[in-house]
Amino acid sequence: MKLLVTGGAGFIGSALVRRLIRTTSHQVVNLDALTYAGNLESLEEAFDDPRHVFVQVDLNDREAVRTVFRDHDPDGVLHLAAESHVDRSIDGPGAFIQTNIGGTFHLLTAALEHWQGLSESRQHRFRFLHVSTDEVYGSLGPTGYFDETTPYAPNSPYSASKAASDFLVRAWHHTYGLPTLITHCSNNYGPRQYPEKLIPLMIRHALAGKPLPVYGQGANVRDWLYVDDHVRALIEVFERGRVGGVYDIGGKNEKTNLEVVRAICGLLDELRPDSPFRPHERLIEFVADRPGHDLRYAINPARIEAELGWTPLETFETGLRKTVQWYLDHTEWVERVAKGLERSQRLGLGVIR
Ligand code: NAD
Repeated sequence: MKLLVTGGAGFIGSALVRRLIRTTSHQVVNLDALTYAGNLESLEEAFDDPRHVFVQVDLNDREAVRTVFRDHDPDGVLHLAAESHVDRSIDGPGAFIQTNIGGTFHLLTAALEHWQGLSESRQHRFRFLHVSTDEVYGSLGPTGYFDETTPYAPNSPYSASKAASDFLVRAWHHTYGLPTLITHCSNNYGPRQYPEKLIPLMIRHALAGKPLPVYGQGANVRDWLYVDDHVRALIEVFERGRVGGVYDIGGKNEKTNLEVVRAICGLLDELRPDSPFRPHERLIEFVADRPGHDLRYAINPARIEAELGWTPLETFETGLRKTVQWYLDHTEWVERVAKGLERSQRLGLGVIR
């Protein structure tokens, strides 16, 4: 099959493209605008294979998106392109509305037009997988779990824009018959994540002896999933999920932010015994909380486990160790990407106020 992956130069998208090329016989057309968050370096292995083709296209460019469908004639879509950083959505929600809602609308419109023109057998096989987040469900109290029946209650501009895009996908299925699937995943971590996100940010700061900024008292709870486990789940859902279905994906690894930062510090103490900043925990600094910060997210992944037999392969301990080791082995990558990020933040790129 020829698959169109959007956002394939981002953190999760690039892991997905690398896995598709490594473990399947599918061809991949990788559509990405290369915003501040896109990085072609993450795709080096995939570029060695002629089954991977990259097209630099912005989802907000409706005609360019239609042209990709016409030129490449895909058998399915895995849609990951999005503005993805909650703090940026608070500073500048415009880009989130444009890309996550408007861009998804353009992609759905082009996908539907394409799907309607396919032969019956290709129509039957076609799938549109929309990759969403557990943040659309809002915040949990100290107990309970999100599952596919939880009502939507998004609290940040990011989660509101993702919720809106989920509803568009749902409507394109119910109204026009487009064979869609939606996944909601918990927080991902792993190699090649941009240094603005919690885990890589903390590793980078700790290595430089800089303060480790923790929001509030660090009590917010997230459910953490190693990125390769998420990507394995996406391929399972795409290939075997029920059309029109929704699947929640989680690692059953609930941790407070403070526990995560402490675990990183502990690993750095062990893996960097000569560091002048040991014990790294003393670098932790509590800072003013994020506005509207959701207290707790946790997923019950019973449906994907029962229907598709998916379970994570990494525990938080094994996944975090691999992640920290990767960042220690790739400090030049981190510094290069972080400098690009800082430049883009200074110029306000990716943020429309
Ligand atoms: P990311 O920010 O690392 O990557 C996003 C990619 O989308 C980048 O390569 C960027 O260049 C591209 N992009 C942005 N705007 C675009 C546009 N207008 N047109 C084309 N490409 C554009 O994000 P990520 O962490 O890899 O997340 C991927 C998807 O998974 C997102 O839809 C996100 O909502 C979802 N998700 C992420 C997490 C997480 O923890 N990171 C958890 C659950 C769901």
